[in-house]
Amino acid sequence: MSENQARQPLEIVVFPMLSDNYGFLIHDPASNATAVVDPAEAEPVLAACKAKNWTLTHILNTHHHGDHVGGNLALKAKTGCRIIGPAYDRDRIPGIDVTVDEASGADFGSRHAQIFFVPGHTRGHIAYWFAEDHALFCGDTLFALGCGRLFEGTPAQMWSSLLKLRALPDETRVYCAHEYTQSNARFALTAEPENEALAAQTEKVAAARAAGRFTIPSTLKIEKACNPFLRADQPALRRRFGGPGMKDADVLGAIRAAKDRF
Ligand code: ZN
Ligand code: FE
Repeated sequence: MSENQARQPLEIVVFPMLSDNYGFLIHDPASNATAVVDPAEAEPVLAACKAKNWTLTHILNTHHHGDHVGGNLALKAKTGCRIIGPAYDRDRIPGIDVTVDEASGADFGSRHAQIFFVPGHTRGHIAYWFAEDHALFCGDTLFALGCGRLFEGTPAQMWSSLLKLRALPDETRVYCAHEYTQSNARFALTAEPENEALAAQTEKVAAARAAGRFTIPSTLKIEKACNPFLRADQPALRRRFGGPGMKDADVLGAIRAAKDRF
């Protein structure tokens, strides 16, 4: 393909798994490669591939939790796909073939995804960013109007992870791994009741869910304006959750703790 010829965009399919997980198929028409991000189970992935007449060639894992890697071994046995996952967690990703980190990035078909090391939810969590396609696959780190629980990391780690993602362009589509948006919105409204963009987004989310539509992907434009976990350095949130001399990461930790109790 010549340099000035536009690339064929990646085709991305969203499908539900388990009770509230999403799987994502990523298809690269230039190479015919197809990846699934975080297969909780095998059957829905195979069905989604079949519906598009695509053959699974890769698994991209963000972290080791069972609802993200549960389908790895069955899919590898069925398709011979290559499993890509975080180098830091190589011992906890079933069937891993290729370990990646921020320095290596991840090769997929004709594409190269940038990797962000985003610990906090787990100690080895990574996110995949396809810059040309404005697509971010962030697992359980950033959610639409929320963020992941701190199972293995500190608020300081999560805040620095969220800042890496917040630095990406507004048009970035946020493919997070769970449909938690409506319950996240309920908490977010208590955290920042004066945020008009959040109130408007909450209405949109309610309408989407009432119509049976997915709320994923979100965009970073929406999340920067509405998501309290990306806004821990905003004065209103600092006033409500922080105190004098508190670091932004401490405010983030206080918001996360309030959400845990919510
Ligand atoms: Zn998780
Ligand atoms: Fe999860």
